[in-house]
Amino acid sequence: MSGLQKSPWVIHYDASSCNGCDIEVLACLTPGFDVERFGIVNTGNPKHADIFLITGSVNEQNRAVVRNIYDQMPEPKAVVALGICATSGGIFRECYNVSGGIDTVIPVDVYVPGCAVRPEAIIDGVVQALGILEARRAAMEASDFAAGVMTIERATAADLPELLALQKVAYQSEAEIYGDASLPALRQSLAQMTEDFGRMIFLKGVVNGKIAASVRGFDDGQGTANILRLSVLPYFRGHGLGRRLVTAIEAEFSKVKRFEIFTGHRSAANIHIYEKLGYKRFKAEPFNANVEWVYMEKKSS
Ligand code: SF4
Repeated sequence: MSGLQKSPWVIHYDASSCNGCDIEVLACLTPGFDVERFGIVNTGNPKHADIFLITGSVNEQNRAVVRNIYDQMPEPKAVVALGICATSGGIFRECYNVSGGIDTVIPVDVYVPGCAVRPEAIIDGVVQALGILEARRAAMEASDFAAGVMTIERATAADLPELLALQKVAYQSEAEIYGDASLPALRQSLAQMTEDFGRMIFLKGVVNGKIAASVRGFDDGQGTANILRLSVLPYFRGHGLGRRLVTAIEAEFSKVKRFEIFTGHRSAANIHIYEKLGYKRFKAEPFNANVEWVYMEKKSS
């Protein structure tokens, strides 16, 4: 996270701008203002973004899109409304098809008025958002989850899109370890996850109303509970959430004789968690040229 303080990644969405404000966002990224020299990167993936830059007003067509992008961004995050249309609906706010500014759909942290908004004002808004991100990060570290207050409950079908987004964020670090984005957890579709949901128990760890971690498992009918896809958002790692979730999913299978779990051969953090919980390696199998699965087991007590 200390790296993110200096290298915020932004995502830009044109809700229904006339493109005037969008041109100014582009001006920030091109050599005239060149915010990339400060480490600010424009990403197209909300799962990688820290700051949501949004232009234009809200209407019935883009309401769900704005919400979807916002929901996929990991915590902590900040929203910057750029231009008078995004801040209030602007000159379009009385239109039959405009419902108002961005804060009618998602919480906005920084309002940057202007028509069109100036690049200097955009950069100033991003700097304000950085301060907000830093305060949120500190609050997250100091609050509930650091003290171990995470509620664990069974996930429902309605949670699946959020769980899939969480999984894809959580497994980015695994892809980086192996230089391989083909890991099954990263390629899973919502349809495949829904199929898993029909035959597995899914647990979710909720912190401050958001799903911060998850795990799933199933009984193979031959005395073994297979535990899969432990996923913890990067900001919540190192606080024991993963250990608590694995312990909780084990408790769901009180009749099995053993538990089995697997991870990649260079996933030292995962292996460390599982060893702390009493798991021991018993076999390894190649997955592809980059990854070998290490299988670990533990007897049920
Ligand atoms: S604030 Fe002005 S320039 Fe920006 S999107 Fe609205 S009308 Fe266009």
